Amino acid sequence: MSEKNTILIVDDKEVNRECLIKLLEDDYNILEACDGEEAIEILDKNRDIISAVVLDIIMPKLDGYGVLNEMSYRKMLPKIPVIVTSVDGDEASELKSLSFGASDFLGKPYNPIIVKKRLQNIIHLKETASLVNYLQMDTLTGVYSKETFSKKTKEILKHSKDKKYAIVYSDIENFQLLKDLFGEKTGDNLLVFMAKVLKHYVNDNELCGRIENEHFVLLKEYDKKSLHNDLDIIVKTVNDFPVNMNLRLRFGIYLIDTAKMSMHAMINRAILAVDTIKGRYGRYIAYYDKEIWEKQVHEQEILNCMEDAIKEEQFKVYFQPKYDLNSEKVAGAEALVRWVHPEKGFMNPGEFIPLFETNGFITELDKFVWDKTCSYIQGWKEKGYPIVPVSVNVSRTDIYNPDFIDIIMGIINKHGLKPENIHLEITETAYTENPHQIIEEVKKLKLLGFVIEMDDFGSGYSSLNMLNELPIDILKLDMGFVQGDLSMNSNNILSFIISLAKWMDYAVVAEGIETEEQIQMLRNMDCNFVQGYYYAKPMPPEEFERHLVEHSILNNDMEGLEMNFSDTEFRKSPGIMLIVDDLVLNRKILSSSFSRYFKTVEKENGAEALEYIKEHADEIDVIMLDLVMPVMDGFTLMKQLKLENKYSHIPIIVTSQGNDKSVEKSFALGATDFVEKPYNPRIIMHRVQNVVMAYKNARAEAKENEKNDSVS
Ligand code: C2E
Ligand code: CA
Ligand code: CA
Repeated sequence: MSEKNTILIVDDKEVNRECLIKLLEDDYNILEACDGEEAIEILDKNRDIISAVVLDIIMPKLDGYGVLNEMSYRKMLPKIPVIVTSVDGDEASELKSLSFGASDFLGKPYNPIIVKKRLQNIIHLKETASLVNYLQMDTLTGVYSKETFSKKTKEILKHSKDKKYAIVYSDIENFQLLKDLFGEKTGDNLLVFMAKVLKHYVNDNELCGRIENEHFVLLKEYDKKSLHNDLDIIVKTVNDFPVNMNLRLRFGIYLIDTAKMSMHAMINRAILAVDTIKGRYGRYIAYYDKEIWEKQVHEQEILNCMEDAIKEEQFKVYFQPKYDLNSEKVAGAEALVRWVHPEKGFMNPGEFIPLFETNGFITELDKFVWDKTCSYIQGWKEKGYPIVPVSVNVSRTDIYNPDFIDIIMGIINKHGLKPENIHLEITETAYTENPHQIIEEVKKLKLLGFVIEMDDFGSGYSSLNMLNELPIDILKLDMGFVQGDLSMNSNNILSFIISLAKWMDYAVVAEGIETEEQIQMLRNMDCNFVQGYYYAKPMPPEEFERHLVEHSILNNDMEGLEMNFSDTEFRKSPGIMLIVDDLVLNRKILSSSFSRYFKTVEKENGAEALEYIKEHADEIDVIMLDLVMPVMDGFTLMKQLKLENKYSHIPIIVTSQGNDKSVEKSFALGATDFVEKPYNPRIIMHRVQNVVMAYKNARAEAKENEKNDSVS
C-alpha cells in the first residue's frame, strides 16, 4: 500500500477532471466521480480513506451544494474537508458553499501552484486538528472550547502585561427563531460560517472560542477604532449568510483591567454589557461600564440578604383594590409585595422580582406572599367583613414546580379558606413559552376551584389565536393598552379585544387606570373591572380593610330599590334563589343583594346545582344561571332540566356576558330571561321581580284551576 493520501475529484466535465488528475496524480491516489450522486456513492464506500474532496458546483443530478448537504447529513464534513471549484471571482457561490460547510474554494481556470498548496494545507489542517484533543476544540465549529479559550487567554494575559486586551462576546438575537424557521441544520451551518468569519479577524496572540449555542467569544488586542471596524465588517459578512432573514448580531465588550479576575467573571461582564442592548434597534456594540458595575453590586447585595429578609419578615404584602366599573365598588384586590429593607428602605418589586425569578428564590417569596394574603383574608372573615376575592401573582417558575398545587392547597387549607377566595394571576408570556405544560397545570387548578386571570394580556405575541383553548376565566389587559395614546386606532383594538373576550365569556380587568377619560372609555366598551391609581394605589392591609368595609360591592347595593312580593305571597317562609356560577364574586354579589327576599343557595357548577335541584325542586323560586363553568356548564344543566317536566315550574335567569348567540341558545333551551354581566342593580332587581312574580301567578292560577276542576 502506498503512503499517498486519497482524494476524490468530482466534476461533470472530463477535461476538468483530467486537468486536475494530471496536476495531482504524483502526490495522491485519485478517485473520480462525474456527478453528485456518484460522488456520494464513492464517499459512502470509502469514507475512511478519503482525505479530501475537490468538488465542482454546477453539475447534473446532484449539484455541489447537494453533495455538501448529503455529507453534512452523513456527518462526514468534520472529517473530510471539501474544496469547491468555481469560476474565478464568483463570490456569491463561494460564500454560499462556505455556508454549506465547504472548507475552501479554488477558482477556475486552475493555477497549478495554488491548487497543490490549498489541498496540502487543508489536508494537513484536518490531520493535525484530529490529533488535538477533542475537548480542546468545539467539535461543530473548530474554534476553541470554553475551557481551552479560558486557559489560553490566561496564558496570553500573563505574557503580555503591557498590552490592552478586550473580551468580546457575541450574540445572535434571533438565532432561536432562525432555527425554528429554517431548521437545526441551517443553525449549525450558520455557526460554522460565523466561526470562519470570526477566525479571519483573529490575529496572532488573539483567540476565538465558542461558549455555548450561538455565543462566541474573542480575545482581541484593544484598539477602539480597529475593533469597531472589524465588528462592523463581521456583522455585514455574517449577514451575507444565505438565509432569508436579517440576523441581529450584538457584541458585548469587557476591557480587561486586571488579569487576576476569573475568566468566568470577565465573560460574564461582556454578557452583562450585551444584555443592555438586547432588543434595541440600531445598536450592536455595548461596553461593560460603571453603571453596569453599580447595578451588579446592588444586585449582589440584594441576593446576599434575601434569605434573612424572609426570616425577618421584611417583605410586606400590599393590596390594590379592583373596582367594578358599573357600581364603582370594590370587587376584588391584587396582592403586591413590597420590601422594607432596614438600610435600603422601601423597594418596589421591579427591583428584586426579576432577580429572584432568575435565581429561583421567587418560589420562596411567592409562598410567603400567598401565606400572608390568606392569613389576612382569614382575619377579615373572622371579623365578619364582606370579603372579595384577592388575586396573587404566580410566577412561571412556580408553575413548573411539581409541588406547586400541594403548596398552594396547603396554604389555603391552613387558613380555612377555599380556592375560590383566591384568583391566580399568570402572565401571558408564561403561556407562550411552554403552552402545553402550562395549560395542563392550569386546567388542574381550575378543577380545584381557583379562578385564573391571564395577566398582562396583549404584551406577548401569543395570544388571540390560542385564546379559546386556554383554561382561563378573566383577561387582565396589559397596562400599555390604556396608557398609550388613546387614538382611534388603539381604541379600536382595545374595544375589539374586550368584545372578543366577552364573546368567549371571559370577564375583563383593565389595569393602570389613571384618568377619568380612561374610565369613561372603558365603561363605553363594557369592561367589567378596573384597577389603577385613579381609584386607589396599592396600600397596606389595614388601609385596604377600611376600603373593604366602606366600599365593598358586597355591601347591600340595592338600597332604595324594593321588591314587592306582598300580594302574591304564598309561602310562609322565603323561597330559594339558587345561584349557579363558578366565580365566587358573581355569586356573592347576587346573594348579598337578594338575601333579604330569598334564601340564597350557591353552587359552583351545573352538576352540583342539578343534585340540589333534584332534592329541593319545590322550594326553589328562581335559578340564576351562569353559562360557562367547569364540570357542567349552564347549557347542559338546562338540557338536563328540560328532560323532566317536573322542573318546568322553576324560572331560570341566565347571567351572561351579553353575547347574543349564547342568549339565543339559552332561550331555545328554556331560559326564562337573562341579565347581562356586569350587573346593573336596577335592571337585575326588575328582571328577578318580573320573572318570579309571573311564575308565582301562573302557579297560583294552576292551583286555582286544579281546585275548580276537582270541585266540578
Ligand atoms: P403586575 O402584576 O402587572 O402588577 C401591576 C403593577 O402595576 C403593580 O406594580 C402596580 O402597583 C402597578 N400599578 C397599578 N395601578 C397603576 C397605575 O394606575 N399606574 C401605574 N403606572 N402603575 C400602576 P408593582 O407593585 O410595582 O409590581 C410590579 C410587578 O412585580 C407586578 O406587575 C408583578 O409582575 C410583580 N409582582 C409584584 N408582587 C409580586 C409577587 O408577590 N409575586 C410575584 N411573582 N410577582 C410580583
Ligand atoms: Ca399581576
Ligand atoms: Ca399586569
